[in-house]
Amino acid sequence: MIYLALCSAFGVVTALVARAKGTSWLMWGLIGAVFPVLGLAGVLLFRRETEELRRPCPGCGRLCMIYDALCTRCGTELNFPELAIESSADAARRAHPAT
Ligand SMILES: [Zn+2]
Repeated sequence: MIYLALCSAFGVVTALVARAKGTSWLMWGLIGAVFPVLGLAGVLLFRRETEELRRPCPGCGRLCMIYDALCTRCGTELNFPELAIESSADAARRAHPAT
């Protein structure tokens, strides 16, 4: 019984953290409830994809994540870039400084 209450509490906390990070709170809430400590640790370590730096693909110009090894559009192999583009979250913050 205490274990179930603990699982629910971890589920709620994990869901709240996930929602604050802008990811799926329902999915993370379930993970947090099933794996109480691991789920919470997972969501705390989880990085928002929009926070990652981006760079243009030399083949087609598509904006890829900085850690991508292959362009997802044209398949060009991507070396570690000399040029990085700010994350979409940073770009949004710059466009709307108040938020
Ligand atoms: Zn490409």
